Amino acid sequence: MRKTTQVLKVPFDVVTMSEAVERALKFLEDGRSHIICTPNPEIVMEAQTDKELLQILRAADMVIPDGIGVVWASRYSQYPLKERVAGYDLVQKLFSQIKDTEYTVYFLGGAPGVANTAAKRMMKQYPGLKIVGVHNGYFDAKEEKKIIYEIKKLAPSILLVGLGAPKQEKWIYENMRLIGAKVCIGVGGSFDVMAGTVKRAPAIFQKFGLEWFYRLISQPSRFFRMMRLPKFVLKVLKSRFF
Ligand code: UDP
Repeated sequence: MRKTTQVLKVPFDVVTMSEAVERALKFLEDGRSHIICTPNPEIVMEAQTDKELLQILRAADMVIPDGIGVVWASRYSQYPLKERVAGYDLVQKLFSQIKDTEYTVYFLGGAPGVANTAAKRMMKQYPGLKIVGVHNGYFDAKEEKKIIYEIKKLAPSILLVGLGAPKQEKWIYENMRLIGAKVCIGVGGSFDVMAGTVKRAPAIFQKFGLEWFYRLISQPSRFFRMMRLPKFVLKVLKSRFF
C-alpha cells in the first residue's frame, strides 16, 4: 500500500532512499511500465499552472522529493517525508544493484555526445552494467519516430530521459507504453553530471540541504528559474496557516 503526502497537490511517496530503490527494483519485475518522477520545489511550482504536468505527477508510480524544500514543506503534514531522495542518487544506486543482472538501460537526452560519454563512464564505474543504447536529446519529430523505434527494438528494462522538466515527464508519459521499458525516470541534467561536464554540489552542501544554492552560484543562468523557490516557500506557508 502506497503512503503519500501532498505538497501543493503533488503526492510524494513517503520513502527513504533504500525503500525507493527496493520499490524501483520491484517495478522491474511486475511486467508493467512505470514512471518515476523526481520533482524539486521548482517543478512543484510549475505543476501549479501546468495541468498536464500535475496530472502526470498525480498518476506517476512513484514520486520522490529531489529537493530539501519539499521535505521541509511536508514537515507538519500527517506523514512527513523521511529524507531527500535525489533522482541522481537513486539512479546510481539502481546501477549498482542491477549490474551483473540481465536488466538493461537506455540513455535519452543531453547535448550531442553527452549521453555517450555518460554511458561509457557509468559502465566503467559499474562493471557489468548493460547500457544498450544512447541518443542525444535534440531531435525533430521525424527523428523522434526513429528513436522510439530503436528504443522499442532494444527493449531496455530502464529508460532514463534527460530532457529537462517538464519536457521529459511529458515525453515519458506519452511514449512509455509504446516503448515498453519497465522503469522510466526523468533525470534532468544527470547525464551532464555522469559525463563529468557538470559537477554535483560538494558533499558539505548536500549535507546541509544547500545543493540548490551551489547550483545557483555555479550556474547563474538558473537564477530566473530559481525565483520560484521563495514563491514555493510562501505558498506552502500560506497553505499551512490559512
Ligand atoms: N535537454 C535536452 N533536450 C532539450 C532540452 C534540454 O536533452 O530539448 C537536456 C540538456 O542538455 C540538459 C538537461 O536536458 O542535459 C536539462 O538539464 P537541467 O539541469 O536544466 O535539468 P533539470 O534537472 O533542472 O530539469
